Amino acid sequence: MPALTDAGYIRAVLGKHGFHFSKGLGQNFLINPSVCPRMAEACDLDKDSAALEIGPGFGVLTKELAERAGKVVALEVDERLPAVLAETLADYDNVELVMQDVLKADLPALLNEKCGGKKVAVCANLPYYITSPVIMCLLEQRLPVSCITVMVQKEAAQRLCAKPGTRECGAVSLAVQYYAEAETLFSVSRGSFMPAPNVDSAVIRLVPKTELPLSGDTERRLFALIKAAFGKRRKTLQNALQDTGLSREQVTAMLEACDVPVTARAEQLTLEQFIELAKAYPEA
Ligand code: SAM
Repeated sequence: MPALTDAGYIRAVLGKHGFHFSKGLGQNFLINPSVCPRMAEACDLDKDSAALEIGPGFGVLTKELAERAGKVVALEVDERLPAVLAETLADYDNVELVMQDVLKADLPALLNEKCGGKKVAVCANLPYYITSPVIMCLLEQRLPVSCITVMVQKEAAQRLCAKPGTRECGAVSLAVQYYAEAETLFSVSRGSFMPAPNVDSAVIRLVPKTELPLSGDTERRLFALIKAAFGKRRKTLQNALQDTGLSREQVTAMLEACDVPVTARAEQLTLEQFIELAKAYPEA
């Protein structure tokens, strides 16, 4: 079988199945032969482990995962793709295609049912229109996965992996930092895709933390504080944090209790400082 990154082969198979790329589903398929092996290698898979892929498309990354893992569970929504995948992945009997929207699927139950007991790594060239919701959905559910290796738009990668004090750092950066260790692995040019998008991409890896510093109401307050602070990022925290329902005096007392200047702005605070503020948040 020709390589799944061969543009001529892709056109032939897709033509045979009457397939046209859907912009709405974020369909930019990888055709650079070096990218998928590098992504699959980053997942640290072996035959005792499993991979969860989101959006197998034509199967180019799926194939690399299937060669390394004992099992691959691939979630897809495009009803035209099972026929294509039956052809392109005919040589692999360890791939199970599940026709479900990743944002609507019961992922904990799915992993338990399909990969019960196995170490699971998530790997995907994510559809760009749902990058942050998918990543937050994976992290917030605290899925029992060893790592999440995903291709995202370069700007999204910069935001997701941004360090405090940088221009790119926002609410999503701190949320990712709270749940995981995040790093950018490598950049991928727009010419690596068919059709080519208007932006470059990057592969990032998130390793979920096994223990989190907060839970329950204090954790909810942390995210309310982060949302309020970055919702008005040009304002001082003394002003912005009143959006969490506190009076000016209560905000001042909370900031002072944590040694945070009332004139500080959201992007000047580390995650640890937001955690201290959440702990000092006045009880109702
Ligand atoms: N993995 C393939 C590759 O790298 O060439 C395709 C990646 S393409 C960027 C994104 C894939 O996600 C498409 O196959 C698309 O149909 C699928 N997709 C889009 N929305 C989805 C959703 N909500 N749930 C699951 N898959 C989705």
